[in-house]
Amino acid sequence: MDIGSAISFLTSLFDILKWVLGGYFVLLWMASVIWTYRDIHARTEETLLQALAVSLSLLIPFAGLGIYTLLRPRQTIAERYERSLEEEYLRHDIEEQFVCPQCQRGIDHEFILCPHCHTALRRRCISCDRVIDLTWAICPYCGDDGSGLVGRTTTNVRRDTPGRIER
Ligand SMILES: [Zn+2]
Ligand SMILES: [Zn+2]
Repeated sequence: MDIGSAISFLTSLFDILKWVLGGYFVLLWMASVIWTYRDIHARTEETLLQALAVSLSLLIPFAGLGIYTLLRPRQTIAERYERSLEEEYLRHDIEEQFVCPQCQRGIDHEFILCPHCHTALRRRCISCDRVIDLTWAICPYCGDDGSGLVGRTTTNVRRDTPGRIER
């Protein structure tokens, strides 16, 4: 093998290597562009931002992808949605427990009256004196229907209860 043919062999080898590496590079580059496309679509619905992100990783191979991952919106749309749901549930819970439905001011969840606007929040059963909901027509503890009579007539029921001491 003379020097001339050795050199031409080496140059053709380099040519092949160049093509292989070039193809590999282009493949990775395209993959990074596709990844960016999917990622930005999961993070924002604004077309301008989507186009910017994709063109960044398309025009600046690999470095553009790095820049994009630094600058992209931190949360995905799904994550943001979940977060807002959570916050709403939390706010709902707090409102239900500690805010007067009439004046929206803070109250204790055991109050039967709002101290600010005097709205009746719950009532006491006139027979057994336990705090019950305003919307309940009958006391679930003693069966009183608001007349105050049931409490006195439940002695029959009480007599049947084992272990209870009668007066
Ligand atoms: Zn109030
Ligand atoms: Zn009662």
